[in-house]
Amino acid sequence: MQFENQLSFAQQQDEVFDRCTYRDWFFIPQKDGREVIYLNGNSLGLQPKTARQYLEKEMLKWEKHGVEGHFGIEEQWFDFHKNIKNSLGHLVGASPAEVTPMNALTVNLHLLLLGFYRPAGKRTKILIETKAFPSDQYAVASQIAFWGLDVAENLVEFSPRPGEDTLRTEDMLAQMEALGDELALVLLGGVNYYTGQFFDIPSLTQKAQALGAYMGLDLAHTIGNLPLDLHAWGVDFACWCTYKYLNSGPGGISGIFVHEKHHGQPLRPPLHGWWGHEENTRFQMDKAFVPEPDVEAWQMSNAPIFLLATHKAALKIFEEVGIKALREKSIALTGFLAFILETTAREENFGLHIITPALAEQRGCQLSIRMNRQGRALFDELTHRGVVADWREPDVIRLAPVPLYNTFEEIYAFGEILREAIRELG
Ligand SMILES: *Cc1c(COP(=O)(O)O)cnc(C)c1O
Repeated sequence: MQFENQLSFAQQQDEVFDRCTYRDWFFIPQKDGREVIYLNGNSLGLQPKTARQYLEKEMLKWEKHGVEGHFGIEEQWFDFHKNIKNSLGHLVGASPAEVTPMNALTVNLHLLLLGFYRPAGKRTKILIETKAFPSDQYAVASQIAFWGLDVAENLVEFSPRPGEDTLRTEDMLAQMEALGDELALVLLGGVNYYTGQFFDIPSLTQKAQALGAYMGLDLAHTIGNLPLDLHAWGVDFACWCTYKYLNSGPGGISGIFVHEKHHGQPLRPPLHGWWGHEENTRFQMDKAFVPEPDVEAWQMSNAPIFLLATHKAALKIFEEVGIKALREKSIALTGFLAFILETTAREENFGLHIITPALAEQRGCQLSIRMNRQGRALFDELTHRGVVADWREPDVIRLAPVPLYNTFEEIYAFGEILREAIRELG
C-alpha cells in the first residue's frame, strides 16, 4: 500500500475500513476535555459501552434469584461459560471442546505446565524467548526448581544474533535441533510483548514435536490481535489473558486451549477440582473424580460470573466484526503508523528505530520503537500531549493501534504531535 502523510489520505482509509471500526462501541478516555490517542490496548483494552449492561444483568439475576441463578433460569450460571467457548474457538482456531475461560493467566500457565512439563531422564529443558514476559519467566523457572532441577541449566533462551532485536526462524529451529532429546517443552508468546514479533508457530510447533517436545503458547499479546489456527497447527496447549486486546476488563478472566489429542489422558490435568468433574454427575458429590471428556476437565472452580459477563460483552463485538476483517485493517493501520513514524523522524532528523519486524506476517498491531536519544523525554512530551503509549526500560516505546477503536485519522494526528514533541525537545 502507498501511504501519504496527509489528513485526507487518513480519512479516506477510515472510509475504506469503516466496517471494522467499532470506536463508537467503546469509551475513549479523555484528558483536558479531549479524547486521548489511546495506543495502549496491548496493556489494557478499552471498555466496551455494553460491558456495564452485561454486568448489571448478572447483578440483577443475583438480586432476584439468589442461589437459583445457577439453574433453571435463562442463561443460568451453571453453564454460563459455555456461551463463550464458541467465540474463543473462532479467535484461536479451535473447537469449543478445546477452549475454556477460567482463572487468571499466570495461574493457568502454571496448571498447564504441571500437565505438560514432566521432566524425565535427559528430557528436562524448556526453551523460551529472550525478553519473555517476567511472569512467564518466573513461572517457568519456578516449575523447573519445583522438580528439583537446576534453573540455569534447564531454562534455555532463544536469543537473537548480535546486533539484532528479533529472532530468525531458522536460528530458532537450529537451537531446538541442538537440544535434541533434552528438549521437553517450548514456551513462546505468540507475539512477543517487548518486540512485537509474531513467531512462525506452525514451523516451530512441527519442529518441537518432531524432537519429542511439546509446544505451548502464551497468547496474551496475540489473541484478538491476529487470527490463529491452533488446532490445525497442532499446538499442544495455550493460555491468554482477556484484558489486553480482548477488552474484557482489568484483571479479567483468562482462558486456555488444550489440543484435542490430549483430551482424556489420565495425567492431564494432574490437579483436580469439582468443576472439572463430569457435568452430569457433578452434583452427586461423589468422592471419586470423573473428569469431563475435554478441556473442561482442567477447570477447578465454579465460574466467576461477573468476569464472564464483561468478557461476553467484549467477545460479542469480535463476533460481529470477525477477526479476519479486523486483521486486514490492522495490517494497514500499523503499516500507516510505521510510515508516519519513519517519515516524521527523517524530516525532523530524530533517531528512532522500529525493532518490530517490518513484514506484516511477522507482527501484530504493535510497534516497538527504540529511541537513540531523549527517549524518555520524548515519551513524556507525547503523554503530555494526550498520547497514551507505553514505556519499557531501557529505551523502548510501545505503540499499539487497535483496529477496533483506533482510526487512521488518529494516527495522522499522532504524527503531528510527534513532530511537535520532537521540536519541543530541540
Ligand atoms: C500481560 C501478560 C501476563 C500477565 O499475567 P497475569 O497473570 O494476567 O497478571 C503474563 N504473560 C504475558 C506474556 C503477558 O503479556
